[in-house]
Amino acid sequence: MQTVTSISEMQALAAGLRAHGRSVALVPTMGALHEGHVSLVRLAAMKADAVIVSIFVNPAQFGPSEDFARYPRELEADLAQCNAAGAHVVFTPSVEEIYPKGYSTFITEEAVAKPLEGVSRPVHFRGVTTVVAKLFNIVRPNYAVLGQKDAQQVAVIKKITADLHLGVEIVIAPTLRDPDGLAMSSRNRYLTATQRADALALSRALRRAQEMVSAGERRVDRLVAEATHLLAQHRRVRVIYAAIVDRDTMEAVREVRPGQTILALAAWVDEVRLIDNEIL
Ligand code: AMP
Repeated sequence: MQTVTSISEMQALAAGLRAHGRSVALVPTMGALHEGHVSLVRLAAMKADAVIVSIFVNPAQFGPSEDFARYPRELEADLAQCNAAGAHVVFTPSVEEIYPKGYSTFITEEAVAKPLEGVSRPVHFRGVTTVVAKLFNIVRPNYAVLGQKDAQQVAVIKKITADLHLGVEIVIAPTLRDPDGLAMSSRNRYLTATQRADALALSRALRRAQEMVSAGERRVDRLVAEATHLLAQHRRVRVIYAAIVDRDTMEAVREVRPGQTILALAAWVDEVRLIDNEIL
């Protein structure tokens, strides 16, 4: 496995792979890797001849009061996990390499990115879409593997990929959960044991909604009321949103359309902001 920090070296390496007829899958991450990330790398290795994992804590997708400075960084452990999962290249550019002095070009998607995360994290997707467009241009992968855990991110990246003819096939990987149900996340390490117990309310609310849909419930008002009720039983949990939306447009719907709608949740557990979702 190779580690690359410069953009020009990454471009040359990816061009070499293409010249040899190798298909390339990119797995964009912010590092502090867990089994969920590893499952993306494995899926990428099944799809393509060469797997490139990018590790870049992207300052542009953090708001001024968010956790950019204290976001976990553990490159050595990340490299070992990438290697074990079958990555061929890890691209770890510096902030100065991606956003040199005077950098001034940003990509904004203006519909799918607006609701949900867009309301409470107004600069977030502008940062995501900008860095993803840059990574796609640097690597020019055949595939990009993304996690359903970040359902709105998937929808937004699919939209810019189509709108800007980026020519990358987006592959979606299912959400990996710990045995207790908590969706794996780099931010889970911020949780104390008691906070973690309360954080389980999110996955419980999602499971309850899935059960209700399996039993024939289609009305969004009833499903959202039940999810909100379950979340509200936990003192440390403050709901940011609980919404059933179309999985492609992120627009609110009135009725569940099985397979096409998701229940998306975001909540504070004390000072830790968590998101989760399930396809209903
Ligand atoms: P991040 O490092 O948080 O930016 O995540 C990098 C990629 O890993 C994104 O495509 C996420 O959706 C995906 N991911 C994060 N958590 C999980 C999980 N629990 N299961 C599967 N994929 C995940």
